[in-house]
Amino acid sequence: QAKHTGRGCYSYYQEALEQQTNHKNSIRQALKQAIANDGLTLAYQPQVSANEQLYGAEALVRWHDAELGFVSPAEFIPIAEESGLIHQLGDWVIQKSLSDLMNWQQQGLQIGHLSINVSPWQFALSGFADRLIELVQVKGLQAKHICIELTESSLLTDLKETIAKLNKLRAYGFRVALDDFGTGYSSLAYLRDLPIDILKIDKAFIDELELHQSSPLTESMIAIGQHMSLDVVAEGVESASQVAKLKQLGCDVYQGYYFAKPLPEQQFQVWVSQHKRQQLDMGNDTI
Ligand code: C2E
Ligand code: MG
Ligand code: MG
Ligand code: MG
Repeated sequence: QAKHTGRGCYSYYQEALEQQTNHKNSIRQALKQAIANDGLTLAYQPQVSANEQLYGAEALVRWHDAELGFVSPAEFIPIAEESGLIHQLGDWVIQKSLSDLMNWQQQGLQIGHLSINVSPWQFALSGFADRLIELVQVKGLQAKHICIELTESSLLTDLKETIAKLNKLRAYGFRVALDDFGTGYSSLAYLRDLPIDILKIDKAFIDELELHQSSPLTESMIAIGQHMSLDVVAEGVESASQVAKLKQLGCDVYQGYYFAKPLPEQQFQVWVSQHKRQQLDMGNDTI
């Protein structure tokens, strides 16, 4: 149809838009099914401390669809957020990751703390904190082993309310991480006011460490975290030289392909067991 309009540019643009909308719609439909039919899985990515000990692990949602193949969360999370599916999805992620944590603990596998990504939409719900607390209680877990990861965008809509919510969660024992730090538009004044425990420096700033002679922004971000007595986690660490640089700058914790990719639950357990055995062999027996 569009081809007959004679306005090539516009119709091409319109067609591309339509295709995009169709693609989004099919993702939304399929995602809805996946959530209802237990079609999602979780991967876990280890976080390693400067002394090589396991600091924790981040739960990352995974989705393989029969027709669409593997779809990246970077693609389907925004669609879930637009369509409201994020609430069911987010609740599933919390339930599943807490169940896994409970199983690991019952097997004597200590993973440090479990980090869970929470969407701004989930966090904005008034019942969020109570729901999280309820699930933690049902599983017989301690909040101190659980960290929620929030991005700046979830924290800045209503700063007063955000602070109250974070205080409630932290009073209960949860840890709070500011994810993708440096990529948002917030001012440093917010950072001062937010009751958080962990600063996650976005991969873009870790990449800087090798691209340039000096990386003043990355260095400053790490220093800010240190001065505020926050744990500083580097995201997307891919090389030994990045680790060396980060260590030198005083960054405490590393997460990235250099140590391990996000792993399916079984493989994650194997990785953790092997890592702990290596630590024991090396005399790092304070596990
Ligand atoms: P994020 O929370 O910042 O997660 C880190 C992302 O970096 C993950 O991508 C991880 O696989 C990737 N990554 C880790 N190390 C490396 C590395 O060394 N190199 C490279 N190139 N990438 C690395 P992933 O799993 O595709 O997730 C993308 C984003 O989707 C996450 O970013 C998060 O914002 C969102 N997401 C993932 N799972 C969930 C979830 O359960 N709930 C919510 N609300 N969002 C989620
Ligand atoms: Mg995260
Ligand atoms: Mg991140
Ligand atoms: Mg990120």
